[in-house]
Amino acid sequence: MFSLEGKTALVTGARTGIGRALAVGLAEAGADIVLHGRDDGLDEVEAEVRKTGRRAGRWILDLSDPGRIVEAAGRLGPIDVLVNNAGIIRRAPAAEHSHAAFREVLDVNLDATFLLSQAVGARMLARGSGKIIMIASMLSFQGGVNVAGYTAAKHAVAGLTRALACEWAARGVQVNAIAPGYIATGNTERLRADPVREAEIRGRIPAGRWGEPEDLVGAAVFLASGASDYVNGHVLAVDGGWLAR
Ligand code: NAP
Repeated sequence: MFSLEGKTALVTGARTGIGRALAVGLAEAGADIVLHGRDDGLDEVEAEVRKTGRRAGRWILDLSDPGRIVEAAGRLGPIDVLVNNAGIIRRAPAAEHSHAAFREVLDVNLDATFLLSQAVGARMLARGSGKIIMIASMLSFQGGVNVAGYTAAKHAVAGLTRALACEWAARGVQVNAIAPGYIATGNTERLRADPVREAEIRGRIPAGRWGEPEDLVGAAVFLASGASDYVNGHVLAVDGGWLAR
């Protein structure tokens, strides 16, 4: 039920952090992987995928220019599973958050997610099957501090997940999201480097530790596989209990 054998998964932002762990984890579950990166620095993750015995391809594109996505997506082969993982965060107090930074975050975290889901999703709909997994956030539910653009984008990603799921559920395409808690990656480097914030955050996580990117693999395999064929528009928190508190 959880096997991904015979499937091809595209993972955006696969060079580092969560994307890298999900690319390798989906390969371990049987999928061939198309690794997306903004440049060609994908040698290490490609080697890790190949070590699982699965095939690895590359799709290189800077997602900060939404205008290029549709044309570039036309060069992709058939994709069974799309993981919209690439994302950025810009930290600044709301009163000083520049419009340029706000727009930049929305372009990568929201516009690119919509356009890629639309382009890849259209071909899934034509085939009558496919899985789209968004990477949401605790800030799809909460306000956060100093991250107005990021919170706006991640709330919108949760809404987009539900909107696409409602339209595509009856046509064989399941759209869901994973909302990671506080995970030790480049995205949270500044928080973990601040001893006060680090202790505050860790102290609020019922599991008592930061998450690792590998903690998200089980949820991704579930949402990519036949095990989730009747799961639509769900935002699955993998957060060590953060939201339960
Ligand atoms: P990360 O290591 O910084 O990974 C972000 C990935 O996005 C990188 O591979 C990066 O590419 C790619 N990316 C950024 N801008 C891009 C652009 N313009 N074009 C193409 N690719 C671009 O951080 P992460 O934590 O793994 O983040 C992955 C996802 O998880 C993001 O959507 C993030 O918002 C979400 N998330 C993270 C946490 C957390 O606690 N870490 C919590 C909730 C949600 P490069 O390798 O080239 O930089």
